[in-house]
Amino acid sequence: MEKREQLYEGKAKKVFATDDPEKVIVSYKDDATAFNGLKKGTIVGKGAINNRMTNYLMGRLEEKGVPTHFVEELSDRETLVKKVSIVPLEVIVRNISAGSFAKRYGVEEGIVFAQPTIEFSYKCDELNDPLLNEYHALALKLATREEIALIKKYAFDVNDFLKGAMKEIGIDLVDFKLEFGKLPDGTIVLADEISPDTCRLWDERTHDKLDKDRFRRDLGGAEEAYEEVMRRLMGEE
Ligand code: UDP
Repeated sequence: MEKREQLYEGKAKKVFATDDPEKVIVSYKDDATAFNGLKKGTIVGKGAINNRMTNYLMGRLEEKGVPTHFVEELSDRETLVKKVSIVPLEVIVRNISAGSFAKRYGVEEGIVFAQPTIEFSYKCDELNDPLLNEYHALALKLATREEIALIKKYAFDVNDFLKGAMKEIGIDLVDFKLEFGKLPDGTIVLADEISPDTCRLWDERTHDKLDKDRFRRDLGGAEEAYEEVMRRLMGEE
């Protein structure tokens, strides 16, 4: 597999072309941003952790019947994935109130829901990723009715699996964000990443935050938190 020109640089990852037009290489950076890029910093070692954690979880999700873009881990930071066109929706599943949910509805963080919630944001930095519902997504032609139904099913499947996998290692899965992509034949697959950058993870006993909120909220110890999740999940750092 030959790595070719850089196609795109995002906030946390770069994407490179390969000699196969249907595959690209994602390269995870240690750069951390929050509040739509207003806050910038570095979480040393995060790129390698997010890369390996995402690949491990996507591998297990494939076994559970959730198709993903994952092809092959190439190195600590680099992974070969299927080239997709990203569906411009951020799909957020929540089990416990936190973050923008707590703020928007004026409730405290930490309320355990009787059943998970799902919400969509329009993936558009210029507009600050505005919240939208399915009818808005259809009106804007961001996805079809069938695609949205499938995305919702996969998102809840991911929640069922991930919540259980985290509970096994003493972590409460508070919420997370997913992105989906479309293959050239129209198949919807899970894309992007599943990592402490995109999930809220609380230690079930101490309620310590083991995720990007350590960076967002200047709590310190982000590196150690990412390493802790990695160690518990995969027995390594
Ligand atoms: N999230 C993300 N990228 C975003 C927005 C949210 O990965 O651009 C994740 C975030 O880490 C959290 C979940 O989605 O696990 C819910 O985030 P929320 O809507 O509460 O927004 P926040 O409080 O992070 O602004």
